[in-house]
Amino acid sequence: MTVSLVGAGPGDPELITVKGLARVRAAEIVVFDRLVAPELVAESPVAALRIERDRLTQDEVNALLVAHGRRGRRVVRLKGGDPFVFGRGGEEALALAAAGVPFEVIPGISSLASAPAAAGIPVTHRGLASTVTAFAAHDVESLDAAALAEVPGTLVAFMGLASLERLAERLIEHGRPAATPAAVVSAATRRDERVVVAPLGAIARAARGLCTPALVVIGEVVSLREALAGVRRSAA
Ligand code: SAH
Repeated sequence: MTVSLVGAGPGDPELITVKGLARVRAAEIVVFDRLVAPELVAESPVAALRIERDRLTQDEVNALLVAHGRRGRRVVRLKGGDPFVFGRGGEEALALAAAGVPFEVIPGISSLASAPAAAGIPVTHRGLASTVTAFAAHDVESLDAAALAEVPGTLVAFMGLASLERLAERLIEHGRPAATPAAVVSAATRRDERVVVAPLGAIARAARGLCTPALVVIGEVVSLREALAGVRRSAA
Protein backbone atom coordinates (compact mmCIF):
# COMPACT_ATOMS: atom_id res chain seq x y z
CA MET A 1 0.00 0.00 0.00
CA THR A 2 1.39 3.38 -0.81
CA VAL A 3 -0.67 5.92 1.16
CA SER A 4 -2.08 5.09 4.60
CA LEU A 5 -4.54 7.40 6.30
CA VAL A 6 -3.90 6.45 9.91
CA GLY A 7 -5.87 7.40 13.00
CA ALA A 8 -3.46 8.24 15.82
CA GLY A 9 -6.06 8.12 18.60
CA PRO A 10 -7.09 10.86 21.00
CA GLY A 11 -3.75 11.83 22.53
CA ASP A 12 -2.14 9.09 24.62
CA PRO A 13 0.49 7.66 22.22
CA GLU A 14 -0.42 4.12 23.35
CA LEU A 15 -3.90 4.55 21.90
CA ILE A 16 -2.93 3.93 18.27
CA THR A 17 -3.74 0.58 16.63
CA VAL A 18 -1.03 -2.08 16.15
CA LYS A 19 -1.51 -1.75 12.40
CA GLY A 20 -1.27 2.04 12.47
CA LEU A 21 1.96 1.93 14.45
CA ALA A 22 3.45 -0.61 12.02
CA ARG A 23 2.75 1.79 9.14
CA VAL A 24 4.38 4.69 11.01
CA ARG A 25 7.47 2.57 11.71
CA ALA A 26 7.80 1.69 8.02
CA ALA A 27 7.03 5.17 6.65
CA GLU A 28 9.18 7.12 4.22
CA ILE A 29 7.02 10.23 4.59
CA VAL A 30 4.81 11.19 7.54
CA VAL A 31 2.35 14.07 7.28
CA PHE A 32 1.04 14.67 10.80
CA ASP A 33 -1.59 16.81 12.53
CA ARG A 34 -0.78 19.14 15.39
CA LEU A 35 -2.94 17.04 17.73
CA VAL A 36 -0.91 13.86 17.14
CA ALA A 37 1.36 12.81 20.03
CA PRO A 38 5.00 13.72 19.22
CA GLU A 39 5.99 10.27 20.52
CA LEU A 40 4.15 8.70 17.60
CA VAL A 41 5.81 10.89 14.98
CA ALA A 42 9.11 9.95 16.61
CA GLU A 43 8.34 6.28 15.89
CA SER A 44 8.93 6.90 12.18
CA PRO A 45 12.39 5.97 10.86
CA VAL A 46 15.03 8.67 11.37
CA ALA A 47 15.40 8.94 7.61
CA ALA A 48 11.70 9.59 7.13
CA LEU A 49 10.55 12.98 5.93
CA ARG A 50 8.27 14.44 8.65
CA ILE A 51 5.90 17.15 7.53
CA GLU A 52 3.59 19.20 9.80
CA ARG A 53 0.14 19.44 8.33
CA ASP A 54 -0.50 22.86 9.89
CA ARG A 55 2.02 24.53 7.60
CA LEU A 56 -0.01 23.49 4.57
CA THR A 57 -3.47 24.17 3.16
CA GLN A 58 -5.82 21.21 2.68
CA ASP A 59 -5.24 21.39 -1.10
CA GLU A 60 -1.48 21.25 -0.51
CA VAL A 61 -1.90 18.21 1.76
CA ASN A 62 -3.99 16.45 -0.89
CA ALA A 63 -1.45 17.30 -3.61
CA LEU A 64 1.45 16.11 -1.44
CA LEU A 65 -0.21 12.75 -0.71
CA VAL A 66 -1.02 12.28 -4.40
CA ALA A 67 2.47 13.27 -5.60
CA HIS A 68 4.37 10.98 -3.21
CA GLY A 69 1.78 8.24 -3.59
CA ARG A 70 2.20 8.28 -7.36
CA ARG A 71 5.89 7.66 -6.90
CA GLY A 72 5.04 4.60 -4.82
CA ARG A 73 6.50 6.04 -1.62
CA ARG A 74 5.26 4.72 1.71
CA VAL A 75 3.27 7.74 2.90
CA VAL A 76 1.56 7.89 6.28
CA ARG A 77 -1.02 10.59 6.87
CA LEU A 78 -1.23 10.57 10.65
CA LYS A 79 -4.41 12.17 11.92
CA GLY A 80 -5.83 12.86 15.39
CA GLY A 81 -8.51 10.42 16.56
CA ASP A 82 -10.14 8.64 13.63
CA PRO A 83 -9.42 9.87 10.09
CA PHE A 84 -13.09 9.86 9.10
CA VAL A 85 -14.56 11.59 12.16
CA PHE A 86 -14.39 15.37 11.61
CA GLY A 87 -10.90 14.83 10.30
CA ARG A 88 -11.20 15.68 6.60
CA GLY A 89 -9.94 12.17 5.90
CA GLY A 90 -12.75 11.80 3.41
CA GLU A 91 -11.42 14.70 1.36
CA GLU A 92 -7.94 13.22 1.28
CA ALA A 93 -9.30 9.79 0.36
CA LEU A 94 -11.34 11.34 -2.47
CA ALA A 95 -8.28 13.16 -3.83
CA LEU A 96 -6.28 9.91 -3.79
CA ALA A 97 -9.10 7.95 -5.40
CA ALA A 98 -9.53 10.60 -8.11
CA ALA A 99 -5.80 10.43 -8.86
CA GLY A 100 -5.85 6.63 -8.99
CA VAL A 101 -3.38 6.33 -6.10
CA PRO A 102 -3.84 3.18 -3.98
CA PHE A 103 -4.57 4.01 -0.35
CA GLU A 104 -5.90 2.45 2.81
CA VAL A 105 -7.69 3.84 5.84
CA ILE A 106 -6.55 2.58 9.23
CA PRO A 107 -9.12 3.61 11.80
CA GLY A 108 -8.20 5.29 15.04
CA ILE A 109 -9.84 5.70 18.42
CA SER A 110 -11.94 8.79 18.01
CA SER A 111 -12.32 11.27 20.82
CA LEU A 112 -16.07 10.79 20.27
CA ALA A 113 -16.29 8.06 22.90
CA SER A 114 -12.74 7.96 24.28
CA ALA A 115 -12.69 11.52 25.66
CA PRO A 116 -15.91 10.99 27.62
CA ALA A 117 -14.62 7.56 28.71
CA ALA A 118 -11.42 9.12 30.00
CA ALA A 119 -13.63 11.31 32.18
CA GLY A 120 -15.64 8.35 33.46
CA ILE A 121 -18.61 9.03 31.17
CA PRO A 122 -20.06 6.26 28.98
CA VAL A 123 -21.73 7.90 25.94
CA THR A 124 -24.55 5.35 26.06
CA HIS A 125 -25.97 3.64 29.11
CA ARG A 126 -28.98 1.39 29.38
CA GLY A 127 -31.90 3.35 30.74
CA LEU A 128 -30.15 6.73 30.42
CA ALA A 129 -29.17 7.13 26.77
CA SER A 130 -29.52 4.86 23.78
CA THR A 131 -28.71 7.58 21.23
CA VAL A 132 -25.56 9.60 20.64
CA THR A 133 -25.60 12.68 18.44
CA ALA A 134 -22.20 14.02 17.47
CA PHE A 135 -21.79 17.36 15.76
CA ALA A 136 -19.22 20.03 14.95
CA ALA A 137 -19.91 23.17 16.96
CA HIS A 138 -17.39 25.65 15.60
CA ASP A 139 -20.22 27.55 13.88
CA VAL A 140 -23.01 27.50 16.44
CA GLU A 141 -25.37 29.82 14.58
CA SER A 142 -25.57 27.43 11.65
CA LEU A 143 -26.57 24.47 13.83
CA ASP A 144 -30.14 23.20 13.89
CA ALA A 145 -30.48 23.97 17.60
CA ALA A 146 -34.14 22.97 17.67
CA ALA A 147 -33.32 19.46 16.44
CA LEU A 148 -30.34 19.16 18.80
CA ALA A 149 -32.42 20.31 21.75
CA GLU A 150 -35.07 17.70 21.04
CA VAL A 151 -33.09 14.64 20.07
CA PRO A 152 -33.04 12.13 22.95
CA GLY A 153 -29.83 10.79 24.45
CA THR A 154 -26.32 12.16 24.57
CA LEU A 155 -24.98 15.14 22.63
CA VAL A 156 -21.27 15.27 21.83
CA ALA A 157 -19.94 18.55 20.46
CA PHE A 158 -16.59 18.68 18.66
CA MET A 159 -14.77 22.01 18.45
CA GLY A 160 -17.32 23.46 20.83
CA LEU A 161 -15.22 25.11 23.54
CA ALA A 162 -14.83 28.58 22.01
CA SER A 163 -18.55 29.11 21.54
CA LEU A 164 -19.80 26.98 24.41
CA GLU A 165 -21.76 29.80 26.01
CA ARG A 166 -23.78 30.38 22.86
CA LEU A 167 -24.21 26.65 22.25
CA ALA A 168 -25.68 26.13 25.73
CA GLU A 169 -27.86 29.22 25.34
CA ARG A 170 -29.31 28.01 22.04
CA LEU A 171 -30.01 24.49 23.33
CA ILE A 172 -31.76 25.91 26.40
CA GLU A 173 -33.75 28.39 24.27
CA HIS A 174 -34.99 25.43 22.26
CA GLY A 175 -36.03 23.40 25.27
CA ARG A 176 -33.07 21.43 26.70
CA PRO A 177 -33.40 21.93 30.47
CA ALA A 178 -30.69 24.19 31.91
CA ALA A 179 -30.22 21.52 34.60
CA THR A 180 -29.10 18.86 32.06
CA PRO A 181 -25.74 17.48 33.23
CA ALA A 182 -22.85 18.57 31.01
CA ALA A 183 -19.10 18.09 30.90
CA VAL A 184 -16.11 19.43 29.04
CA VAL A 185 -13.15 17.13 28.63
CA SER A 186 -9.96 18.91 27.63
CA ALA A 187 -6.85 17.13 26.31
CA ALA A 188 -8.44 13.75 27.05
CA THR A 189 -6.03 10.83 27.64
CA ARG A 190 -3.09 13.23 27.73
CA ARG A 191 -1.12 14.17 30.84
CA ASP A 192 -2.72 17.62 30.83
CA GLU A 193 -6.27 16.21 30.72
CA ARG A 194 -8.86 18.27 32.56
CA VAL A 195 -12.54 17.65 33.15
CA VAL A 196 -15.21 20.10 34.21
CA VAL A 197 -18.79 19.10 35.07
CA ALA A 198 -21.73 21.48 35.53
CA PRO A 199 -25.37 21.82 34.55
CA LEU A 200 -25.83 22.99 30.95
CA GLY A 201 -26.83 26.46 32.13
CA ALA A 202 -23.52 26.90 33.96
CA ILE A 203 -21.09 24.83 31.88
CA ALA A 204 -19.63 27.71 29.84
CA ARG A 205 -18.64 29.61 32.95
CA ALA A 206 -17.26 26.45 34.60
CA ALA A 207 -15.18 25.63 31.53
CA ARG A 208 -13.50 29.03 31.33
CA GLY A 209 -9.76 28.64 31.20
CA LEU A 210 -9.81 25.13 29.73
CA CYS A 211 -7.66 24.55 26.67
CA THR A 212 -8.38 22.96 23.31
CA PRO A 213 -8.77 20.26 22.14
CA ALA A 214 -11.94 19.89 24.15
CA LEU A 215 -15.06 17.80 23.76
CA VAL A 216 -18.42 18.83 25.18
CA VAL A 217 -20.76 16.10 26.46
CA ILE A 218 -24.36 16.90 27.29
CA GLY A 219 -26.86 14.46 28.76
CA GLU A 220 -27.83 12.32 31.71
CA VAL A 221 -24.84 9.99 31.18
CA VAL A 222 -22.61 12.73 32.62
CA SER A 223 -24.16 11.99 36.02
CA LEU A 224 -22.47 8.56 36.00
CA ARG A 225 -19.06 10.18 36.26
CA GLU A 226 -19.25 10.58 40.00
CA ALA A 227 -19.70 6.84 40.52
CA LEU A 228 -17.25 5.76 37.81
CA ALA A 229 -14.43 8.25 38.36
CA GLY A 230 -13.79 6.84 41.85
CA VAL A 231 -13.33 3.33 40.47
CA ARG A 232 -10.99 4.64 37.77
CA ARG A 233 -8.84 6.36 40.37
CA SER A 234 -8.44 3.28 42.51
CA ALA A 235 -7.68 1.15 39.43
CA ALA A 236 -4.96 3.55 38.22
N1 SAH B 1 -10.68 13.04 14.05
C1 SAH B 1 -10.74 13.49 15.44
C2 SAH B 1 -11.52 14.79 15.57
C3 SAH B 1 -10.83 15.96 14.87
S1 SAH B 1 -11.70 17.48 15.06
C4 SAH B 1 -11.34 12.38 16.31
O1 SAH B 1 -11.81 11.37 15.77
O2 SAH B 1 -11.31 12.51 17.53
C5 SAH B 1 -10.88 18.15 16.50
C6 SAH B 1 -11.81 18.12 17.68
O3 SAH B 1 -11.86 16.81 18.24
C7 SAH B 1 -11.37 18.99 18.82
O4 SAH B 1 -11.79 20.34 18.65
C8 SAH B 1 -12.08 18.35 20.00
O5 SAH B 1 -13.44 18.72 20.04
C9 SAH B 1 -11.99 16.88 19.65
N2 SAH B 1 -10.81 16.23 20.25
C10 SAH B 1 -9.80 15.62 19.61
N3 SAH B 1 -8.91 15.11 20.49
C11 SAH B 1 -9.37 15.41 21.73
C12 SAH B 1 -8.91 15.16 23.05
N4 SAH B 1 -7.76 14.48 23.30
N5 SAH B 1 -9.64 15.62 24.09
C13 SAH B 1 -10.79 16.28 23.88
N6 SAH B 1 -11.29 16.54 22.66
C14 SAH B 1 -10.59 16.12 21.59
